[in-house]
Amino acid sequence: MDDRARTDARARDEADPLARRRDAFDLPEDLIYLDGNSLGPLTHASRARVGAALNAQWGRGLVGSWNTAGWMDLPDRVGDRIAPLIGAGPGQVVALDTLTLVLAKAVLAALDLRPERSTVLTDVANFHTDRYILDAVATRAGRPIRVRALPREDLAAHLDDTVALVMLTHVDFRTGEMLDLAGVTAQVHAAGALMVWDLAHSTGAVPVDLRGADADFAAGCTYKYLNGGPGAPAFLWVAPRWQGVAANPLPGWLGHARPFAFEPAFTAAPGVRGFVTSTPSILALAALDGALDAFDGVDLAVLRAKSLALSDEAIALVDERLPGQLDLVTPREHARRGSQVSWRHPDAYGIVQALIARGVVGDFRAPDIARFGFAPLFVRHVDVVDFVAHLVAVLEGGEHRDARYALHQAVT
Ligand SMILES: *Cc1c(COP(=O)(O)O)cnc(C)c1O
Repeated sequence: MDDRARTDARARDEADPLARRRDAFDLPEDLIYLDGNSLGPLTHASRARVGAALNAQWGRGLVGSWNTAGWMDLPDRVGDRIAPLIGAGPGQVVALDTLTLVLAKAVLAALDLRPERSTVLTDVANFHTDRYILDAVATRAGRPIRVRALPREDLAAHLDDTVALVMLTHVDFRTGEMLDLAGVTAQVHAAGALMVWDLAHSTGAVPVDLRGADADFAAGCTYKYLNGGPGAPAFLWVAPRWQGVAANPLPGWLGHARPFAFEPAFTAAPGVRGFVTSTPSILALAALDGALDAFDGVDLAVLRAKSLALSDEAIALVDERLPGQLDLVTPREHARRGSQVSWRHPDAYGIVQALIARGVVGDFRAPDIARFGFAPLFVRHVDVVDFVAHLVAVLEGGEHRDARYALHQAVT
């Protein structure tokens, strides 16, 4: 059975237009890495770009590299490379800070644009950091703001004329459920509110069309499917209609129109650049810039088709080989699925750890979810077959109940 499934999978890999993209990554041949949704792997281009930034630019060019190596506008150039992946135009995206901070900026800026409204809606299942920062910035908006975290199916019923903005994550980090970006944005706009999207689990994994959806603000991190490296800078998209209108709540000199005029008052640089606060992290941006090479020339429709094929294959094989043993929490419907598949199991942590011991890397999300990301640039069809074979072996052999897995590590 496995031989037949592997042969078929090998044939799909042969025919895969993205198969050679795996060569861009520094991944061992036999590693099955299904955690690109948490930390994307290192690319050869990142290594080279960081090496150049370290040795030639910082090492030899020293402070002159701010001018000669284009360091000053690296946040904008990297932003412009992310833009096509999220349906944004040039000059609309900038790479900066990290995601939690960028969300704070976007939410405060959006609240200023709806001064007569006092409610913010979010999803009760939203990622914790999104909820923490939302609650915190709401107390600093200069007026009383009520944050309501609701089950996502109840949000529409609460879209009244007090709602200033809605902040949602497009693809759920636990279940992999994908929301209707355009449909939700239209509903929010119909209520006169603004839409802030978190694209952490979308960017580089599923096609996103921010301009088509006519959203207001969006932010995402770049160390997941964009493979920018641990703690890589985040990005911010501001709709063209809000550029020059929305203000950075944390202005700093690197977002000033003339940073080296050392003027006493802040004047924002044009466009989204005004949201930059501090000196860009050049080595981190160099790693991200290199990582983005892997996306050059990739047709997002092809990327999406492969992502869905991989996750379909994983779901079908688990259904067939392990009936009734794992509880699928990811939607089967394509339109509602991101690029990961999650199953619930009381021993999910042990399952993930036993798989890691076998060279299959996924992750665990409390309380009981085993999560596997299918990053289409480097995951092969044969990896899916091998992943499920290992999963069957783990469960049949009771490896997940090993006493070693009773205690959870700090990062799961
Ligand atoms: C990964 C992730 C984050 C991470 O935020 P950082 O500030 O980069 O640590 C935030 N929100 C969501 C939805 C995420 O998936």
